[in-house]
Amino acid sequence: MTVSKTLDPTDWPAFRLQAHKMLDDMLEYTEHLRERPVWQPIPQALRDTFQEPLPREGSDLATVHLRFMRDILPYAVGNAHPGFLGWVHGGGTPVGMLAEMLAAGLNANLGGRDQIPVEVERQVVRWMRDLFGFPQGAGGLFVTGTSMANFIALLVARTAALGIDVRRSGLGAARTIAYTSAGAHGCIPQALELAGIGSDALRIVPMDERFQMDTAALESMILADREAGLTPFFIAATAGTVNVGAVDDLQAVAAIARRQGVWFHVDGAYGALAMLSPEIAPRLAGIQQADSIAFDFHKWGQVPYDAGFILIRDGALQYETFASPAAYLQREPRGLAAGSPWPCDLGPDLSRGFRALKAWFTIQVYGARMLGEIITESCALARYLQEQIRSEPKLELLAPVSLNIVCFRYRAPNADAVNSEIVMALHESGIAAPSTSTINGSLAIRAAIVNHRTTRADLDGLLRTALSLGDSITKTM
Ligand SMILES: *Cc1c(COP(=O)(O)O)cnc(C)c1O
Repeated sequence: MTVSKTLDPTDWPAFRLQAHKMLDDMLEYTEHLRERPVWQPIPQALRDTFQEPLPREGSDLATVHLRFMRDILPYAVGNAHPGFLGWVHGGGTPVGMLAEMLAAGLNANLGGRDQIPVEVERQVVRWMRDLFGFPQGAGGLFVTGTSMANFIALLVARTAALGIDVRRSGLGAARTIAYTSAGAHGCIPQALELAGIGSDALRIVPMDERFQMDTAALESMILADREAGLTPFFIAATAGTVNVGAVDDLQAVAAIARRQGVWFHVDGAYGALAMLSPEIAPRLAGIQQADSIAFDFHKWGQVPYDAGFILIRDGALQYETFASPAAYLQREPRGLAAGSPWPCDLGPDLSRGFRALKAWFTIQVYGARMLGEIITESCALARYLQEQIRSEPKLELLAPVSLNIVCFRYRAPNADAVNSEIVMALHESGIAAPSTSTINGSLAIRAAIVNHRTTRADLDGLLRTALSLGDSITKTM
């Protein structure tokens, strides 16, 4: 007896019915998100079922799908839900979901070769180049997220400072120094660690009262380091700090970087795409002068995870930092091996998924104007939330609202413990899911409005629940 071994369906019509059911279930989920809790605690018995060993034999797709619907879908983070306000998470869209399905169906590998999927990525690169006023020779690349994008920018800046030989010889005696503000994301020191430069070589520039980098301090630190014989090479400014949403004075940083001959990088993880909003874009003035910009389509761009992006003014330098000759990656004038340079020449990834497709679909279907309006609306909602907090004596704001992040707390003796309790209970309530942060030493309830589905009613729900939880917690504590 011969057994035909294939992973494709043997009964296509039955598979097709099951496939449509799976699609319908996800559309149903998205349409009725509001009726669900944002998040719910995971029963221990359910968690334990994920301890089962490697299955030797397969199961029905329908059976595994049922398990997904019952055991996985209800226990995700909930960032698609309008009540999700934690950290900085995008909401995603049904259009993005469908584009992911198409990309998975093609199973395209965008490391290189002559294929239209690479042209789609190059088109998004050109759109972003134009959005940020970068020149024609700028290089761009989809990556997992801004953590990776910041790391790539740092490596290109290292080439700019030390020359392409640094790839072979390492840092040697070079003592390169980088600068960022105290409000920077933790992936900036990590990038220095990964690059072998070490996070001790990162100067933390203090912030002013608006949580922006103190640019006078930046320049004197650069001068002092140069005086001491060190090599200042990289400034990472932030457009939208993760704690409070502050935007560094990018024009001032650009001027210092130019004067001092230091690379000017912008971590615009979520904030950079505010360039799509005519109302908010002026706040980012100066970003056009950056040497590199890192940002995420999966945050304010509403593209499903993951879709990070790096844009580098000098695309040739980016190529020199990463391109490697390899016999099995030989380029040719014709055939599949044409079309050099390839995306794998511009970053550390060789095999790469078709992330560009979901960004391309999102931009094509909604249009840049609509995506910008979503960003404008998030900021308007943050101002609304700020006003509600100001008019409620039991609450206080802990930081000025710059873009879309609001940090506040319930006034109480022992406020840190009370507010941390409020946030955990909020999560368990399923009504709203903010996160916490520490602002000037105080624990804050932190609401980041990123999701396009969030409305005033969701913010009212957050405050109403936080107040009633605060009242009952302070009674029992
Ligand atoms: C989210 C964020 C990052 C990290 O981006 P990932 O996509 O999670 O890797 C870096 N910087 C800032 C300011 C962020 O908000």
